[in-house]
Amino acid sequence: MKKSEFKPLDWANLGFAYRDTYCHIRYVWRNGKWDEGNLYEEPYMPIHIAATALHYGQDAFEGLKVFRCKDGVVRAFRPYENARRLNSSARRSCMAEIPEELFMDAVRRVVKANMDFVPPYGTGASLYVRPLLVGTGPQIGVNAADEFTFLILVTPVGAYYKGGLTPVRAIVVEDFDRAAPKGTGTVKMGGNYGASLLPHKIAHDKGFPVDLYLDSAEHKYIDEFGTSNFIAIDKKGAYVTPKSTSVLPSITNNGLRTVAQHLGMPVEVRPVRFDEIADFAEIAACGTAVVITPVNEIVRGEQVIQVGPREGCGPTLQKIYNAYTAIQWGEAKDEFNWLVDI
Ligand SMILES: *Cc1c(COP(=O)(O)O)cnc(C)c1O
Repeated sequence: MKKSEFKPLDWANLGFAYRDTYCHIRYVWRNGKWDEGNLYEEPYMPIHIAATALHYGQDAFEGLKVFRCKDGVVRAFRPYENARRLNSSARRSCMAEIPEELFMDAVRRVVKANMDFVPPYGTGASLYVRPLLVGTGPQIGVNAADEFTFLILVTPVGAYYKGGLTPVRAIVVEDFDRAAPKGTGTVKMGGNYGASLLPHKIAHDKGFPVDLYLDSAEHKYIDEFGTSNFIAIDKKGAYVTPKSTSVLPSITNNGLRTVAQHLGMPVEVRPVRFDEIADFAEIAACGTAVVITPVNEIVRGEQVIQVGPREGCGPTLQKIYNAYTAIQWGEAKDEFNWLVDI
């Protein structure tokens, strides 16, 4: 949109939805190199009808947040982690990698051009940054493209689940699997999410906001929720999260673990059997959009397992959440150097 069309938003009630901003940034890789990138006002791009992204899912994305901190400075949260993970997705899907400095420069340029959309401190809202890497060169056979597009769009967001730390019920997906043990679960490739739409819709129609996937080989171990990692606090106070070859390495999970450790908690990254669920004191889903969504009930067929408090978040996860978000908002010392100035 044009600058003249800008109106301050209802920052506290944004939800998690796409909203148009002034522009996005877009780069093209051709003949072995990335171009300089340009800002585009129109939220559209021309794309070849035979682009590999459209036909063969040569596509990967990221998600990170930019905060207007307590001191008024605008900062990105752990953007280099997203750059590294995007490159891991690029390698798995035969796309050109993006130099970390180019990635960071792209984040800075597009955020600076959209400063009006970085929500004010204190509203709970932030600017969601969505990098996307796609094959845009034409191929008619199944082959990697010879041209790639890297773009970043930004959109202001509030809380993903209405009401913040309100616990939700989860349903175990039995009839579908998310990712094979040696499949693409560890990378953020678009195809994983296309495959998740139907199970997600079925879960949603049954009244469950989140769906839980088990390991696809045996349905014995926990993998993760549809778009967020599984984390739990056991009865001895340890932070437990599944080790699996088909789980997406969540940057939020990594950060929450770091905070937990810093708070003196033991951390266990190990295979977690589904039948351990009843023994946990607290369970949550974690990811960039929400940070933590407490899960107080897990349903698998006829089995209903209740975990943690009926209302609100369990005390340990709440404590980790508070420490983590205080760093994001610049309210606490940035102990781990996670914030990068825009
Ligand atoms: C993006 C994603 C997550 C969360 O990752 P963060 O880096 O914490 O945002 C977890 N699981 C899946 C399947 C995802 O796609």
